[in-house]
Amino acid sequence: MPAPRIDPDQVPADAEARRAAAPVLVYPPQTLPAPDLALYVRARGGARRTAQVVVPPRDARAVEVPAGSVLRIECREGSQVGDLNLFRAGDLSERFFSGKTRALHGTHVSVGDRLWSCLPYLRPMATILADSLAWYGRDADGGGVHDVIGTRCDPYTQRLLGGTDYHHCCHSNLTRALVAATGLPVAEAEAHVHDVLNVFMCTGFTADEGRYFMKASPARAGDFVELFAEIDLLALLSTCPGGDCGSGHSSDEAVCHPLVMEVWEPEGGALDGWAPPEPSGYDRGHGIG
Ligand SMILES: [Zn+2]
Repeated sequence: MPAPRIDPDQVPADAEARRAAAPVLVYPPQTLPAPDLALYVRARGGARRTAQVVVPPRDARAVEVPAGSVLRIECREGSQVGDLNLFRAGDLSERFFSGKTRALHGTHVSVGDRLWSCLPYLRPMATILADSLAWYGRDADGGGVHDVIGTRCDPYTQRLLGGTDYHHCCHSNLTRALVAATGLPVAEAEAHVHDVLNVFMCTGFTADEGRYFMKASPARAGDFVELFAEIDLLALLSTCPGGDCGSGHSSDEAVCHPLVMEVWEPEGGALDGWAPPEPSGYDRGHGIG
């Protein structure tokens, strides 16, 4: 990629002073309402498993997660990236909002961070309760795990860049899983598939040009994340055809493994005093009238 041409006449005399403006956090984390993690952890302690779904390689599956339950996603056999979509159960119009989650919590999420729903709802759909890869932090390349920066691999970008049709990208896997879960026609279901949480994926932006990169996931058999469902959820998980995403994706070349989704429901009374969050209270007037 050629360096952008810069006309010396366009560089203002105070260019460095302008660049030296102090960065300001757009959404200071201390302004976010904090989840009661201790309560969630206590409830998780007495929970029992009520569902287990194996997601085969290069495919996707759906599971319903009642509010107050925990969705556990586990690498059971080997390193594998998963692409997660979340909907409010029974209403596909409320779905995970990757972009706002990134703005509120950063490019990668871990324990205590929340997965927010789209406008006009904007409420936490889930809270990350446990993450066996929390130790990873930031690596020397600026990479981290569980990102909300990638969108999902899809056959349109594959067609654009590779010139071929591939039907097992995460976008297509999620579409098939939504068709199976809802009975919607393919074209209608596809329109509901959205930007994902990249579970177990290790990604970042290059320091020099800010380009999106991936590297082999540090996840191994036994690694997991657990999400506390703040509202009734329909969760879809795709096992990315990139496997650990250490080389490529959008093909059958990478070694892929299944992922396991489990639902754990708390004992009765374990969440006394807790209630699912309400949608945003904004009156939706938008300044009209
Ligand atoms: Zn993928």
